[in-house]
Amino acid sequence: MSTAPEHTAQRETLGFQTEVSKLLHLMIHSLYSNPEIFLRELVSNASDAADKLRFEALSDASLLADEPELGIWIEIDKDAGTLTLRDNGIGMSRDEVVRNLGTIARSGTAEFLQKLSGDQKKDSQLIGQFGVGFYSSFVVADRVSLVTRRAGLPADQAVRWESEGTGEFTVETVSDARRGTAITLHLRESAREFADSWRVRSIISKYAEHIELPVHLRKPSVKEGEVGEWEVVNQAKALWTRPRTELSDDDYQGFYKHIAHAMDDALGWSHNKVEGKLEYTSLLYVPGRAPFDLYQREGVRGLKLYVQRVFIMDDAEQFLPLYLRFIKGVVDSADLPLNVSRELLQSSDVIDSMKSALTKRALDMIAKLADDPDKYATFYAAFGQVLKEGIGEDHANQERVAKLLRFASTANDGTQSVSLAQYVERMKPGQDTIYFLTADNHAKASQSPHLEVFRKKGVEVLLLVDRIDEWMMSYLSSFDGRKFQHVGKGEIDLSTIEGGDADSDPVLSEEQSKQAESLVARLKKSLGERVKDVRVTTRLSESPTCLVLDAFDMGFQMRQLMEAAGQKLPESKPILEINPVHRLVERLAAESDEARFADLAEVLLDQAALAEGAQLEDPAAYVRRVQRLLQAL
Ligand code: ADP
Ligand code: MG
Repeated sequence: MSTAPEHTAQRETLGFQTEVSKLLHLMIHSLYSNPEIFLRELVSNASDAADKLRFEALSDASLLADEPELGIWIEIDKDAGTLTLRDNGIGMSRDEVVRNLGTIARSGTAEFLQKLSGDQKKDSQLIGQFGVGFYSSFVVADRVSLVTRRAGLPADQAVRWESEGTGEFTVETVSDARRGTAITLHLRESAREFADSWRVRSIISKYAEHIELPVHLRKPSVKEGEVGEWEVVNQAKALWTRPRTELSDDDYQGFYKHIAHAMDDALGWSHNKVEGKLEYTSLLYVPGRAPFDLYQREGVRGLKLYVQRVFIMDDAEQFLPLYLRFIKGVVDSADLPLNVSRELLQSSDVIDSMKSALTKRALDMIAKLADDPDKYATFYAAFGQVLKEGIGEDHANQERVAKLLRFASTANDGTQSVSLAQYVERMKPGQDTIYFLTADNHAKASQSPHLEVFRKKGVEVLLLVDRIDEWMMSYLSSFDGRKFQHVGKGEIDLSTIEGGDADSDPVLSEEQSKQAESLVARLKKSLGERVKDVRVTTRLSESPTCLVLDAFDMGFQMRQLMEAAGQKLPESKPILEINPVHRLVERLAAESDEARFADLAEVLLDQAALAEGAQLEDPAAYVRRVQRLLQAL
């Protein structure tokens, strides 16, 4: 009795999911400078198909039985302008064909497509972050047809899929005795170069030299009417199983592009064979570019997991902490069972020890990138923010991660390039604290009145302007034995630090101190609820006033983050600090008209907030006060 419902045998014409149509259009128009990518993607799919079959065959050996040698076969018909790539991997059922080659299942795809600008150059970079896949065939072909039969299904359940890549495809059930998938590309006039076997051969050696699967290429026939012989054109030995000494940079980069579906080179890699209590080989890469879903919760992450060379799964997330989710690579274990599941991975001592070793390897690999400052700058721009999550999340490696951080500072031009080690090296005699300031952006940070005394003393201050910085600093209390201090929080005491323009530190006479004290009392009374406290400061030299927070108060950025996350926070009031030797403050002290004193006091408070780049709660009241004061001039 036939189990197939009748309609499935018919030829059906179906529309691509909207996202696919958009992606197809985009690919065809933006990948013209890199059309060879299609071959890498097809080889990669064939290799995945072989991996999946080997995996399923672990529990059902009959799936492999009729054709146990797995491989890829590429045939070119120069005259017809076609290229056919066949694999004898897992294949697809009719349902799978419709799902896999008619839709995109990846989450975040719609958002990704919205980001596209229509500018082909920019978009082609974005598409590189997304990963192109099967649909890249249409970059070089105006018609693609595919015949596939799923392993385990009978010969009359093969499927033929065909499309011109313009919005529709057809599927029909056909007969084909061969297991796996054969894809035929009808090359565009402009892509006839791919009907040349030398060209194809050179692309294969770039991307498929080191996959486990042999790639056979049919040699062009010498005589007309004769069929050329098959020739294996790659090493067909998994790269990570080979000794480092035998491998060149090009080998590593080619393999990286294969596993990461990347367009550009990796920034670095680390290849290690571990023997002893645990046995595994790992090959980790630092990508040159962030993927589009780096900050998406469901984003794709993790390493490719093999057990004794058998592929087990993509995206095994358990081997690295979340803050290293951008690392790509392969891990091949000799200790895990072949039937290891995601659940099992979550609670295994083997995994825990591997994770901690791989984390250190990854951090070392990143540290090594710093030998080349340009490379490191590229790395840091792409992944620096993610790395910062590690300060809060990975206590055991906090110091290692801290070493990898880079900041702007008052001693540089605003690029994030100062390491904490450099800062410590440049500390002044007598300085035992690492000073930093957080702000929304570099302009605000570098203008902050809190920096005045540090400039005068010649003490460097780190300028932290990433959204995550304040959160991170709440976890980072010291580096290399030195404590951190926010220059806008708590009391600042630079008296032990030598050098700079120290002699000009204001030393108040007894008379001045008394005056300052009474001014402080008047201000407290006048400003009342608006401030937590008023005090005399040593922070300032040019500005009359500034706002500071108590040492353990939550900073402005953190408040914003937490409020955005829906948390209700108690109101926090600033401390107003005054510079008693500033002319405006002296004027304030001399003001006998109480109404004008109140106006001046409020204006100085608001200006201190403005100087920090904060928004005034009542800007209209501020303007009215300034106008009253100006009119009285
Ligand atoms: P990805 O490989 O990232 O999943 P692709 O666009 O390359 O995305 O392929 C989409 C899906 O089509 C694959 O996940 C796979 O299920 C299926 N597929 C593609 N090529 C083959 C093949 N040669 N054999 C079996 N399945 C395939
Ligand atoms: Mg693919």
